[in-house]
Amino acid sequence: MGILEGKKGLILGTANDKSIAWGVTQACHREGAELGFNYLGEALEKRVRPLAESVDAKFIEPMDVGDDASMDAFFAKVAERWGKLDFIVHSIAFANKDALKNRFSNTSREDFQLALNISAYSFVAVAGRAAALMQNGGSMVTMTYLGAVRAVPNYHVMGVAKAALESSTRYLAQDLGPDGIRVNAVSAGPIRTLAASAVGDFRNLMAKSARGSMLKRNVSQEEVGNTAAYLLSDLASGVTGEVHYVDSGFHIGAGDPGAE
Ligand code: NAD
Repeated sequence: MGILEGKKGLILGTANDKSIAWGVTQACHREGAELGFNYLGEALEKRVRPLAESVDAKFIEPMDVGDDASMDAFFAKVAERWGKLDFIVHSIAFANKDALKNRFSNTSREDFQLALNISAYSFVAVAGRAAALMQNGGSMVTMTYLGAVRAVPNYHVMGVAKAALESSTRYLAQDLGPDGIRVNAVSAGPIRTLAASAVGDFRNLMAKSARGSMLKRNVSQEEVGNTAAYLLSDLASGVTGEVHYVDSGFHIGAGDPGAE
């Protein structure tokens, strides 16, 4: 019997089969969960629908987390279809490419607000709507990165957004804890995905992360997915407000002092 048997959960943020959300999906499906999905726009629907159907999902609906009406419509359909929820996975981020390319001190107000809105506020907005459907408690997991707590080259405003996301994780854990809802973040090491392609010199970041890590390699979507599945399951019933690193131990080291 899988650790998520009998649970219904939403996977938010699948773009394609390279997405971290897809790694989480595979682990949750293997562990017996019934899954629902969102997609952003028609172009992504073409990719997400076949992936979701391959794990027997019946709930596949559009949602733009930058739009309250779109979120309300999505969660109204969740309520109609399932009536309850056991978990959500928030695997969503966005920043303007220019904001990651230009000097950090030149970040515009618009780019700052956009990155924080889509990458951090959206977790709070999703959590509130999901919590209303978690009458028997539940679990929420979001995806973060080391750039929240260290100045990582080229990560810029996304690091500020991840700091807000990690802090939001703690405040959500405090707010929703009395309702039996746990809220955690997984801090993944660098993985080649669509979103990652916006980060300048990502190839070098991956090489440095592997060299500076304890395991001397990078992590996979599957490894992040397995950790998320554990946090979503009752095996982690005493864990909330945590930032759990899945980065081959890079964050405990001194980086790669031998790097250029
Ligand atoms: P990805 O491009 O596959 O996923 C990002 C998702 O965000 C996409 O599905 C996209 O549709 C969605 N999204 C963007 N704007 C949205 C909006 N307005 N409404 C709804 N959805 C929206 O890339 P990924 O790397 O799998 O990213 C998933 C999460 O993992 C992000 O939070 C990212 O910051 C985080 N993360 C990634 C890495 C990495 O190295 N790839 C490392 C640590 C954390």
